[in-house]
Formats: sequence, structure tokens, C-alpha cells
Amino acid sequence: MPDWIAEEHRYLFQNYGRQPVVIERGSGTRAWDTDGNEYLDFVGGVAVNVLGHSHPAVVRAISEQAARVIHTSNLFYSTPMIELARVLVEASGLDRAFFCNSGTEAVEAAIKLARRWGRDVRDGAFEIITTTDSFHGRTMGSLSATGNARYREPFEPLVPGFRIVPWNDLDAVRAATSSQTAAVMVEPIQGEGGVNMPAPGYLAGLRDWCDRQGILLIFDEVQTGIGRTGTLFAFQHDGVRPDVMALAKGLAGGVPIGAILARDDIAAHFVKGDHGSTFGGNALAAAAALATLREVMAPGFLETARERSQRLIDRLQAIEDRHPLVTGIRGRGMLLAVGLARECSAEVVDEARRRGLLVNNVRPNAVRLMPPLNVSEDDIDRAADILEAAIAAVEGAGAK
Ligand SMILES: *Cc1c(COP(=O)(O)O)cnc(C)c1O
Repeated sequence: MPDWIAEEHRYLFQNYGRQPVVIERGSGTRAWDTDGNEYLDFVGGVAVNVLGHSHPAVVRAISEQAARVIHTSNLFYSTPMIELARVLVEASGLDRAFFCNSGTEAVEAAIKLARRWGRDVRDGAFEIITTTDSFHGRTMGSLSATGNARYREPFEPLVPGFRIVPWNDLDAVRAATSSQTAAVMVEPIQGEGGVNMPAPGYLAGLRDWCDRQGILLIFDEVQTGIGRTGTLFAFQHDGVRPDVMALAKGLAGGVPIGAILARDDIAAHFVKGDHGSTFGGNALAAAAALATLREVMAPGFLETARERSQRLIDRLQAIEDRHPLVTGIRGRGMLLAVGLARECSAEVVDEARRRGLLVNNVRPNAVRLMPPLNVSEDDIDRAADILEAAIAAVEGAGAK
């Protein structure tokens, strides 16, 4: 067998800090590496695998669609994309969908739509207010919206027109708003920033401010969407509907896809030729998304996911009670993080992996858990046991 890790080091760009596991196969919450080791996968492809690995409904949809037609381009109509748009529109209360292939592309589409709208409706307004610790993607527009200097600085100068204000600070948004402002864009829960919850009333406050100013409220639900936080969209917890929403990660159960949804009067500002994507709404991806949504929207599915989430939170809180290294459990649904008293999350991740659990060091002092929404109670208990052992090992090492 080749040394896959050496081959990767030889042939790929070295832009990722990968964990030393070569995943070969997955089923539900389980993954196996090329040495045959079994893992509980609580990374879930970074909040992508909402139904776990290779869910039979997704596999079937992909196989059947692949045999029928894979790709048609947007020079023609195709049925899976149209059906998917209807499902998303009806579920979100927004009016229209545009499809692309990733989160960053969805955010790019939202940025361009906001600019197009601002040009037409608000006297050329083009600025977008975003927040510190946000993550919106890696292409130049979405990177320019991202409030993280580590990602931004190597690529300056960035796209102008973004005002980055402190997260959870409504007054800062108000102060940054001007006649140039077209939109405010936030994640309803910050994912990559460390699973940071919105302060009570923050999202509602943004909604109210945007309404009063006549500017757009954009939610980047790339990570929080598709049941990840316990409701189909995270905005539903607060009853604060955005004007435009970006989706990607979990939408097609592992197949690349992105989307924006928008109110009709806003979507109307993308006229023919304004924006597009060769692969966007690809029949294969749309079929996978329809199958994924059918499962996630099935009666009782999200209710069960919320119960399982509570079980996981209870277990994590018990770990916190027993271990001073743990300084808080945050997040919602199946998007959770364990805060740590010092910058040792990479060690906790290593110790967990050695014991058969995959998790992610989202911040130097926080470990993120993103299991499938249908993770079993047994797997939650097993993962919590492993995580506690890993934390105890790091705690013990730190005490020496
Ligand atoms: C992951 C993520 C993105 C970028 O998605 P890609 O598919 O990696 O381009 C954008 N916004 C949020 C909130 C994300 O979590």
C-alpha cells in the first residue's frame, strides 16, 4: 500500500493542516482509515454530513440521478434543481433560489446581489457590514467580508466596501451604517470563529435596525443551515427571517452545492446575465440535496436530533463539572464546542483520535463537535467517554 500521507506531501499544495488519518470508508457516524482503524466521526466533513457517511437515501438518489443525467448546464431547464428550489423556498419563507457549488460562492452571490440591489434601490449604496470572528469563505469577496486577520492579511489589498464591526455589538452596527450601506451580513451562530452564540436579542436587533434603515439583512447559514442547530435554519430559533440567506455545507449531504435564497423584490435585481455558474444546480447535486432534505424534513427527524443534542450537551456539561480544563460548553443542536482553559485543543484532538474519536480544534482553546444529526444515543455516550478520557490525558500532562 502506498504511504498516502507521504504522497500527499509530495503532490498536493501544503495549505491544509490535516489530521494524520487517511479515511477510506464511512457509514453513518463511523469512518475507517486505510489501516482498518475505526473512528467515531464527530467532524462530519465540517458540518457537511448531516445524515452521516453514505446515507442510503443519498446514495440511492445519486446513483439514480447519475444513471439518468448528471449535468445539463444552465442553458437548459432541469427538474431536480427546480424541485429543490421549491422545497427550499417553501421551507424558508423566502421567495427564490440561486444555486452554486460551495459556501464561498453562495456568499459571493449574496455580496453581488446586495451590491446590485444597492445600486438600483439605494442610490449606489455598496457597503456591507460584517463582524469580527466571522467566516464567510476564501474567495476575494467573501474573504473581504471575513473578520479574521489571519485569513485576510496575506491577500491584501482586498475588495473594498466591507465594514467589520465587533460581533454581538448592535451599537457598532448602528454606528457603521451610512447612506453607503447596502447590507449587514452575519452568521446566526459563528462556526469557524469558535461556535460563538449571538447575544439574546442581537439577531432581532439587527433585523429591526435593517428594517428601519431600509438595508438588507443577510444570514450566512452555510454552516448553521440544514438542521445543524436543531431547526432547519438557525434563523428559526429567533424568528428573525433574513432578506437573503446563504446555504452550502450540509445541503446535499456531502455532495458539493451552494445556494442563496432571497426575497422576490431583491432577487429581481439579478437580471439575465448578471450572475451564473456552470455547475450551479447540477442535477446530481440537486438530487442529493432533495434526498437529504427529505430525510431532514421528515416528521420527527429534527425533534429527535434536538433530543440527541440535549443528551450530548448534558454529557459535555458533566465533563465540564469534573474537569477544570473545560471552561464552558457552547453552541446549539449538533454544532457544539468545548471551551478549554488553555490553548491545548490540538492535543485534545490528538488524544481523542488515538482513542477512536474524530473532533476538530476549531480554536486553539476550543474543540468543535459536528456529529451527524441522526447520531445514535450509544455513539453520543461513547464519544463523550472518549472525549473525557482525552481531556483527562491532556489535563494530566499539563499538570506535570
Ligand atoms: C464553511 C463556510 C463558508 C465557506 O464554505 P466553502 O464551501 O468552504 O466555500 C462560508 N460561510 C460559513 C459560515 C462557513 O461555515
